[in-house]
Amino acid sequence: MAENGADPELTKGRARKALGQHFLHDPDILRRTALAAGPVEGRTVIEVGPGPGGLTRALLREGVDKLIAVEADPRFASALEDWPEAATGRLTVHQGDARKVNWPELIATAGGTTPAMIIANLPYNVGTPLAVDWLKAGDWRGEMALMFQKEVAERLAAGPGSPHYGRLAVLAHAVTNPHIAFTLPPGAFKPPPKVDSAVAVLVPLQPEQRFDDLATLEKVAAAAFGQRRKMLRAALKPLAKTKGLDAIAWLESCGIDPTARAETLTQDEFRKLATAFAEA
Ligand code: SAM
Repeated sequence: MAENGADPELTKGRARKALGQHFLHDPDILRRTALAAGPVEGRTVIEVGPGPGGLTRALLREGVDKLIAVEADPRFASALEDWPEAATGRLTVHQGDARKVNWPELIATAGGTTPAMIIANLPYNVGTPLAVDWLKAGDWRGEMALMFQKEVAERLAAGPGSPHYGRLAVLAHAVTNPHIAFTLPPGAFKPPPKVDSAVAVLVPLQPEQRFDDLATLEKVAAAAFGQRRKMLRAALKPLAKTKGLDAIAWLESCGIDPTARAETLTQDEFRKLATAFAEA
C-alpha cells in the first residue's frame, strides 16, 4: 500500500469511466479535503466513493471516530474490508449504490453519532442528485465537504447576480452556509477528468435560520429559473395558476417587483414567495 493509503495495484489503468473514477494521490490535497469542513476528530464521517482509499486514509489519520464508506465498485469495497480499521469497527464498508442508501439506518448500524459529516470526492454522474438529497436530509446530516466538477460547486455556492445562481444555490442557502474551499486542475487526478474540480463546503444553518419547506422552495425556484430570461410575472404565471393565484399580486404581496428576473432575487425573497405560495 502506498504511503497515502491508496493501493497502486487497484488504481493502475483500471479506472472505470462509468463510475466516475478519478483518483487523488497527493497527500496534501487529501488532507486539505479531509479537513475542509473543519476538524473531523471524534466525529462520524460518511465517505461516498472511497475508491482506492486515499481520502479514507487521510480521514482516519485526522482522527475520525467512525468512518462509513459507501462504494459501488466491489473491487475497492472488498480491498477496504481488509484494512485493520475495518476489523476494529472504526471503518464500516458498505458496497452498493450511494443513491439507494438509508443514511440514518447505516449510521446506526455502524454505531456512529449524529450529526454525521459527509466528506467525499464524488463521482461526477451522481454528485448533484446526492447533494440535493443531503440538503433535504434531516438533523442526522452535519457539515459537508464535497468535491465536484467546478461548475456544480459554483452552482451550490452562487448568490444573486451570478450566472451560476439557480435552483441548487437557493436550496443550498436555505439550509446551509455554502462556500468553495478550493479548486483543482484536471492534472491533480489520475486519470485526469476533462474539467476543473472544486470542493464545496456546506455548513448547516442553525435551526432558527433554516427554511424548512424545501419542497415548496424548490418548486418556486424551479419555476422562476426555468425561464430565467423572463420577468418573474411571466415565469411564475403557470405555477401561480395551479393555486388560482395572480402572479403579479403574489409577487407584490412579497414586496418583489413583478418585472424583476429570478437571478436578482435574494434568498429571503425566495423564502417569502415560497411561504406565500404554501399559505395560498
Ligand atoms: N475517493 C477516491 C479518491 O478521491 O481518490 C475516489 C473518488 S472517484 C471520483 C469516485 C468513486 O465513487 C469511485 O471509487 C467510484 O467507484 C465510486 N462510485 C461511483 N458511483 C457510485 C455510486 N453510485 N455509489 C457509490 N460509489 C460510487
